[in-house]
Amino acid sequence: MLSIKDLYVSVEGMEILKGINLEVKPGEIHAIMGPNGSGKSTLANVLAGKEEYEVTSGEVTYSGEDLLEMSPEDRAREGLFLSFQYPVEIPGVPMVNFLKTSINEQRKYRGQEELTAGEFLKYMREKMELVDMHTKLTNRSVNEGFSGGEKKKNEIFQMALLEPKLAILDETDSGLDIDALKTVARGVNTLRSPENATIVVTHYQRLLDYIVPDYVHVLYQGKIVKSAGKELALELEEKGYDWIKKEMAV
Ligand code: ADP
Ligand code: MG
Ligand code: MG
Repeated sequence: MLSIKDLYVSVEGMEILKGINLEVKPGEIHAIMGPNGSGKSTLANVLAGKEEYEVTSGEVTYSGEDLLEMSPEDRAREGLFLSFQYPVEIPGVPMVNFLKTSINEQRKYRGQEELTAGEFLKYMREKMELVDMHTKLTNRSVNEGFSGGEKKKNEIFQMALLEPKLAILDETDSGLDIDALKTVARGVNTLRSPENATIVVTHYQRLLDYIVPDYVHVLYQGKIVKSAGKELALELEEKGYDWIKKEMAV
């Protein structure tokens, strides 16, 4: 589904990612962990297609296509979901209208019939239950005046509606409380199927108490320095990142 080969990325002339290799297959959950500044968000941003990130060498293939050649919009239409792609506030546009448009654009792109207002509401209600979303949020303008936790809930709700093939969640917010973590986890666990995959980028082992990854990768100074099963997250919690730093210094 996603194949990253020897990826080098620079930001403002500084090399941040230094040869990333990663294979994600359908049905898998991968966690990318690592100390602050190691390049986790850079990796997520490159996959999202943000302009300021320059790929200097390497390849990224998504569903058999060259991801780096695709526009951010086409990436989304092809089922790639990035948690930080919709954080903008859109005053005057209720969430429910925004979501209906997003869903129908995606359906049109896939050659499916657009949902009528009634069908959309029914679909939305089903998904609202899954993430414990409230009607009062969907009736408010897109993200306007949302708290951190509400934004997070909303984002995961969008993910549940869009049913992405590959979701990449960059959990940068150190202020995420336990409820928000649980919302993220519920979304990921609900989305989980043999056809879909998720990459969770997180500094915090805590999130992985609720999401059980198949693989854990540690990113350090722009390289994946360790990959293992879920037990690696526990080991990191116990020993901290200093352990990796010391090991790498040897
Ligand atoms: P992490 O998410 O692991 O904390 P980041 O990918 O955010 O790490 O950052 C890795 C390095 O890249 C840091 O030194 C950071 O300052 C730099 N960096 C990331 N994005 C930008 C940017 N847009 N402009 C300048 N430097 C950046
Ligand atoms: Mg950071
Ligand atoms: Mg980050």
